[in-house]
Amino acid sequence: MAAHFIAYSTAMATALLWSVGVVAQEMPLFDAHVHYSHDARETLPTREAIALLRKAGVRRALVSSSDDEGTQRLLNAAPDLIIPELRPYRTRSDVGTWVREPDIIRYVEECLAKYRYVAIGEFHLFGADADLPVPRRMVELAKKYGLMLHAHSDVDAIERLFKQDPNARILWAHSGFTDPASVRAMLRKHKNLWADLAFRADHVPSGELAPEWRGAFLEFPNRFMVGSDTYIAERWHFIPEHASTARRWLSELPREVAERIGSKNGKEILGGAFAKHRID
Ligand SMILES: [Zn+2]
Repeated sequence: MAAHFIAYSTAMATALLWSVGVVAQEMPLFDAHVHYSHDARETLPTREAIALLRKAGVRRALVSSSDDEGTQRLLNAAPDLIIPELRPYRTRSDVGTWVREPDIIRYVEECLAKYRYVAIGEFHLFGADADLPVPRRMVELAKKYGLMLHAHSDVDAIERLFKQDPNARILWAHSGFTDPASVRAMLRKHKNLWADLAFRADHVPSGELAPEWRGAFLEFPNRFMVGSDTYIAERWHFIPEHASTARRWLSELPREVAERIGSKNGKEILGGAFAKHRID
């Protein structure tokens, strides 16, 4: 009887330890929306930026910056962690004017000749502006270099980008800041469209996953990614909080779906591409 009890207790203790271990082991995250622009670089040293990502349990991060120097610094400091993308902005002020600025293409071409990337973005592009010569040339360059497009865009601009290159692969920044029904409709229509959830809170309006978003995640578990969007230096300090919030709402989904949205999608679609790039 006593021996039986001891064996039983040991089994229980092992089960308990195992479950504690599982809980303690944080879900790895792929942060698909990180910026380290010139103003962030001035106040947050590269070493500290990397430390914030690691502290948050971010395994890989898709990083872009205005100018590209910030991305290259982070990549040199942590090549295991940083996945570089090329933002077509030299300074923050290019955000609103780049679509009509031919020098942007020169800058993008220079960077592409010098460094390797997995994507061009995140860029801001809306409506008919997508068909202006500068964005058109950018889409051609993305095609030539096999890069994904990371577009902060409305539905109209996304449609125009796919019209220019029907084989383009687009990561839709902030899921277009549109409603989940429209996001689902776009994902149904375009098999090469993925969506990040950066800088939006409507999927967890009161701390719990909104039903309409749950439906979108269950229908397209392979197409969403999380992102913190460190567009200003202060947002870097929000990275650990963003990670724990993401883990919390992801835990409301079936584990397989949570792991896909939390890290596997980013790793497969962006991480793998860069790994291949670096080997050859
Ligand atoms: Zn952004």
